[in-house]
Amino acid sequence: MAKVSLARVRKAYGGVVAVHGFDLDIADGEFVVFLGPSGCGKSTTLRMIAGLEEITSGSIHIGARDVTRLEPKDRNIAMVFQNYALYPHKTIYENLAFGLRIRRMDPAEIDRRVRRAAAMLGLDEFLARKPKQLSGGQMQRVALGRALVRNPDVFLLDEPLSNLDAKLRVRMREEIARLHQEVGTSMVYVTHDQVEAMTLANRIVIMRDGHVQQVGRPLEVYDRPANLFVAGFIGSPEMNLIEGRIAGGAFVAGGLSVPLAEGTPARDGEEVVLGIRPEHVAVGETPGAVGFDIRVAEQLGAQTLSIGEAAGVRLRVLTERSDTLGADQRLAVGLPAHRLHLFAKSTGQRLDAGRA
Ligand code: ADP
Ligand code: MG
Repeated sequence: MAKVSLARVRKAYGGVVAVHGFDLDIADGEFVVFLGPSGCGKSTTLRMIAGLEEITSGSIHIGARDVTRLEPKDRNIAMVFQNYALYPHKTIYENLAFGLRIRRMDPAEIDRRVRRAAAMLGLDEFLARKPKQLSGGQMQRVALGRALVRNPDVFLLDEPLSNLDAKLRVRMREEIARLHQEVGTSMVYVTHDQVEAMTLANRIVIMRDGHVQQVGRPLEVYDRPANLFVAGFIGSPEMNLIEGRIAGGAFVAGGLSVPLAEGTPARDGEEVVLGIRPEHVAVGETPGAVGFDIRVAEQLGAQTLSIGEAAGVRLRVLTERSDTLGADQRLAVGLPAHRLHLFAKSTGQRLDAGRA
């Protein structure tokens, strides 16, 4: 187990910068998720920690060791990839043991580690099989097991669940969370799936175009997204983002005028984007409520997502299940001041930095 520190880590491929100065301290035992759209630099950063990618500048420490120039094999990390890359002709037992055999570990110790990992991952009964006799989920478990037997200081996982179907992904997600609790080793996990990030992470690092956008605990980034990008990326269904401006202590867009909380740091006349999550729109006749005309109602099962317009502004509203909501119906809705997020239109940065 160890702490991992990245200091101003940068990667350029020729003139193309894939990762700009990346600063992060990962605590011993912490589960950190790199989250962002395809091409934002997640894998490159992970591969630099692993030593599979040379870093252009900056430094990386694992525990007290400066590993910046060390070979991958000398970093004591274990990596799990999206494609399990198992040896097809070896048994599951030998797939788990192989990495230890090439390190010339004592066979008795290898056997102990393989059996322990197999027990932890529910693979005991498959040890004599070949990979093609396993399901996708079982193969991914073998890939995890192969990392586990190494007893690494840090686990690095690059979209390990992307090849699995949705249901299996949820199950494996739970297993990875349990595994982390059991072994207590630091994990760095890459995904483009915000639900995976929210459910697994102690802290999420949200990336875009090689730049870190925000680092925070899952509910921190949900409650206080640092900018418009994070606001739109975290949360499902997506946050409503409405362009408008500040006038007389209110946010104004189309025919909509929304009073802001006192002390909101926005100047009169400033162009802003107002954010409110669909689940935070208040439904019902309250002072200041406006009419919301539903165009489409999506039944999600436990909840209903209504999409429509309020005072000329497009809005998504998430409520408990309602079987009767549908097109051409009207609700009274309000945008509660304590649920609002305000961003500067010019920079996209959160304005009310000090407020939940
Ligand atoms: P992610 O894992 O977030 O999808 P990557 O880290 O794989 O993104 O890639 C980040 C950026 O670096 C992308 O724009 C990608 O095209 C670029 N990139 C990655 N590897 C190379 C390479 N070997 N040569 C040139 N550009 C690369
Ligand atoms: Mg990637």
